[in-house]
Amino acid sequence: MKISKNKIDAETFENLCCNLDQLEEGEKVKYAQLVEPLRYFLGTEKFQSCFDGAAKCLEVINRVAVNTVTLVNDEFTPIGYGIYPEASLVNHSCEPNAVFVFRNKQLLLRTLRPIAINEEVFVSYTDQLVPKDKRRQILKQQFNFICQCSECVNEIREQLFHKKKFGTESLKNGEFSLTESGFPEVSVLPDSTESDFSKILEGVKNMNTDDCFDKLEKLGSKYFDTNLLVHELLVKCANIASHKSFKSALQFELRLLDNFQKFYPDYHPMKSLQYTRVSKIFSFLGKVRSSVEYFEKALRNIAVTHGCESELYKVISEQFNLDQREIAHFEEQSLRKTALTQK
Ligand SMILES: [Zn+2]
Repeated sequence: MKISKNKIDAETFENLCCNLDQLEEGEKVKYAQLVEPLRYFLGTEKFQSCFDGAAKCLEVINRVAVNTVTLVNDEFTPIGYGIYPEASLVNHSCEPNAVFVFRNKQLLLRTLRPIAINEEVFVSYTDQLVPKDKRRQILKQQFNFICQCSECVNEIREQLFHKKKFGTESLKNGEFSLTESGFPEVSVLPDSTESDFSKILEGVKNMNTDDCFDKLEKLGSKYFDTNLLVHELLVKCANIASHKSFKSALQFELRLLDNFQKFYPDYHPMKSLQYTRVSKIFSFLGKVRSSVEYFEKALRNIAVTHGCESELYKVISEQFNLDQREIAHFEEQSLRKTALTQK
């Protein structure tokens, strides 16, 4: 579904959701702090003509904050912000059945699976690979609601995020003190509250890169790859390894792909991108049979998540065709050789 990129008029903007009334005092103060700098930069006269007073200005700032959509490119890297009134009608779920993608500045709403008549369409307002407590904190602060979606209630993905192989070792914030434990069972982190876990995860994200491989080995022996701490280390290791050796980067990327299969539904933009990364590395390493296999999977996913008319689909199709031609060339050569030896 295409969503208009026309400029919005004042009346449409006025009709967009504004949640100032429901905000807690602390959050209101944050918005209010933006009013004075604006008055300073615009000058009192211009400020007054633009906003008709501080209260109105506060309302405009809140409306922009609540309704702004992050524009992303095909790789889902943020490239800007925009307000799309029709997009503001789509509610949030941590287990969405649709996603926003962009063609230049035009926003498209793409479904990730068939949606029945009268079934509500949802997108995710947050990164889906964020623990529940953190997601809820973001949604409460920015949009002022407590999410009660299926994932928040059933915690299927959440359990994967905390999954450990065995033991009860405690994880201290900012470090991973792994104390040998005891009983072989799979459970969530027993010694960490959810917010501790988010803090530790933040620590991993800001970690000194030299430590990544060592930490991954240590944590990987205790926790499953889907544990967000391990997952985040895999992302870091894949990134660092890609600057040194594609062969070692491939191992990390394949483990991440395996995680994405578990985290996401059949079709999801993050899976499309991970298939793309893996197939490109196979191709670069000259393993064309594997690259073709993964390019094919990437294309099947991209057709759903980005669309066949997307730039990404076109680029990956070209690489897929090139590698397919290489395989055909090898096969032709080997047939010739066989024919020559038989003569
Ligand atoms: Zn939720």
